[in-house]
Amino acid sequence: MKAARNLVQMLQPQAITSPDDLLRAGLIPPDHLGAVVEASATLPVSITAHIAGMIDPASSNDAIAKQFVPSALENNRQAEELTDPIGDIPHSPVAGIVHRYPDRVLLTPVLTCPVYCRFCFRREAVGDGLLTASKLNTALDYIRNHTEIWEVILSGGDPLIMSPRRLTQIIDALDEIDHVAVIRIHTRVPVVDPERITETLITALKRTTPVFIVLHCNHADELVAEAEKAISRLVDKGFPLLSQSVLLKGINDDPESLTALMKKLVRSRVKPYYLHHGDKAQGTSHFRTTLAAGRAIVSTLRGRLSGLCQPTYMLDIPGGHGKVPAADDYLRATDDSNWIVTDWQGNTHKYHD
Ligand code: SF4
Repeated sequence: MKAARNLVQMLQPQAITSPDDLLRAGLIPPDHLGAVVEASATLPVSITAHIAGMIDPASSNDAIAKQFVPSALENNRQAEELTDPIGDIPHSPVAGIVHRYPDRVLLTPVLTCPVYCRFCFRREAVGDGLLTASKLNTALDYIRNHTEIWEVILSGGDPLIMSPRRLTQIIDALDEIDHVAVIRIHTRVPVVDPERITETLITALKRTTPVFIVLHCNHADELVAEAEKAISRLVDKGFPLLSQSVLLKGINDDPESLTALMKKLVRSRVKPYYLHHGDKAQGTSHFRTTLAAGRAIVSTLRGRLSGLCQPTYMLDIPGGHGKVPAADDYLRATDDSNWIVTDWQGNTHKYHD
């Protein structure tokens, strides 16, 4: 963890990277320090200066603080919670690769993030810095040797915390592999450290191979003017932007918060893609809704939001079995050719094939 903290401090010297920093910034009271030290032993603390500036220390209901400031609740681990909740490890043939589906792989060249989200599903893995050059080469060789791989998803960690020079090397290497048709980058950087989206970084990403960017954003309050400008810089340069959000208890688990978030994303030219049900990562039960509650909330979005603003509510099956849509089913078969269809107001209609 110490190495990870040093890397974050080197990359963003103003960041809050320790329980003592949180105390000095007035983001935790002194009597919480011991519990926060315990929580940060598993998942380090990191809050960018940009995000710290958005937190209201006087509010106990701040949607930003709840995502990034550790709490004693993280020390409550439930029996059903897992160290590898979505089963990355059994699908990792070499370091830095997760190969769960035949046509796509996850490439994780960096495990450092500019912020550490307290609900992170990779909380046991993130914080360990960069993949070594030789491990990165082995991971790239794996992609080169598996011609069935059509899409490479750069994740981590946050790939956009890497220097433009290292990103260039990785994107160049992927661009040269004929069977890799699409590169996808999962990142939180445009909303947590928007100044990092510079022309130099954008140049590092632009290649012949299409690069899709999936922005992790959970609350409309994250989309302040600086974040919107960073997103615009990417969209204006031709990168398709999608979003992924996590359904988080007490942060966005109500129709109003999700409606505001999805509309603000679309206004920023980001297409809502996935709304993830909370994974069973250790010490995160205070963030998880039940599936029934999640389905009920998501079903209200059909009448509130246009199709453009609809995310797909997804469950990652614990153990590494992949993702499935988790929303309510609007169609129910009554026999081989008859269906009951439920509309957005909850009214039912018969449909005959
Ligand atoms: S940015 Fe992603 S990988 Fe990093 S802590 Fe947040 S959820 Fe985890």
